Amino acid sequence: MKTFYPLPVLGAPSQPPPFDWQGWYDAVGGRTITIDEATMWLGRIQTEQYPRFDGPVAETRREFVSPADASEWVKGRARALGADLVGIAEIEPTDIYRDRSVNYRYAIVVGARMAYEQFVTVPSESAAVECLRIYFSLGETVLHLADELRAAGIACGVEHPIGDSSVLHVPLALKAGFGELGRHGSIIHPELGPLFRIGSILTNLEMVTDEPMDAGIAAFCDKCQACRIFCPADAIPDERYHDGTVDPIGNPRYVVDTGKCFPYFARANYCSACLSVCAYHHKQWATMNDGTVGPYPTVPFGTVPAPTDPSENVHIYPKLRRDESSPWHR
Ligand code: SF4
Ligand code: SF4
Repeated sequence: MKTFYPLPVLGAPSQPPPFDWQGWYDAVGGRTITIDEATMWLGRIQTEQYPRFDGPVAETRREFVSPADASEWVKGRARALGADLVGIAEIEPTDIYRDRSVNYRYAIVVGARMAYEQFVTVPSESAAVECLRIYFSLGETVLHLADELRAAGIACGVEHPIGDSSVLHVPLALKAGFGELGRHGSIIHPELGPLFRIGSILTNLEMVTDEPMDAGIAAFCDKCQACRIFCPADAIPDERYHDGTVDPIGNPRYVVDTGKCFPYFARANYCSACLSVCAYHHKQWATMNDGTVGPYPTVPFGTVPAPTDPSENVHIYPKLRRDESSPWHR
């Protein structure tokens, strides 16, 4: 019998505060990426999708014969609405940003694959547009699924893939069985690789939860260094950080230096180099739309801005690594 956290579930004090996009952009001199198509997708997310986060819940509730019946229905609807991945996780305090709370016990986590075609050169305008395009299309999947739940008399909340969420999508997706955490800080799925985005719908509908995956991917990362070598900003570490916390399959995490990544990411078309060079089953997931195997990507290294840390709370370990007097320095 599962012991649930009392509602509302409060974010763990050990977790970071909600990601402050504007604060980060302010720290690097503002938003400088101006690609018409990316701006168009961002505008559509804000004007067409943000107003649809809430909606009326039907008075008549759809009945399910069991939690397994409910999770099967939810997953089937998510796939029919365009999800490439769907899984269910119980929400714990460590899945919620500090100072936030949620009134739901379950996350229905959905993922959608990005087109490798657009990431053959990274950073690039095509990769930036694809990131925003998939945020919009996965946003539609999340919103339509939320509409269907409400129409079935089931209250739910929307956590859009683009951010400003109360929940951390990555730990929820790991628990929902999406793959394993890679050295680059993104989840790697055994067949889809790392090139997908994640959103969630939160609900109290009783469902069967999924299990974290251990397919040997994290062990592969311990030997592979491709993302670290190709990261233009040198933001990806060479060792795991042993601070006592572990991922759902018991591994200490690789902690990406966001203070190095973000200034580059914010100027270089949202970078994404670490995703498209990811060596894990590259030929398998890096296929083009016509089914042919895509080339290994080209990464033109540009000028790298100085590290920037707008928050004192989230980069302790990377800061230690940058400090030449620290034992973590390399
Ligand atoms: S997005 Fe680019 S700068 Fe950031 S960690 Fe990945 S490769 Fe490095
Ligand atoms: S490039 Fe290699 S080390 Fe980096 S996440 Fe992918 S498999 Fe792991």
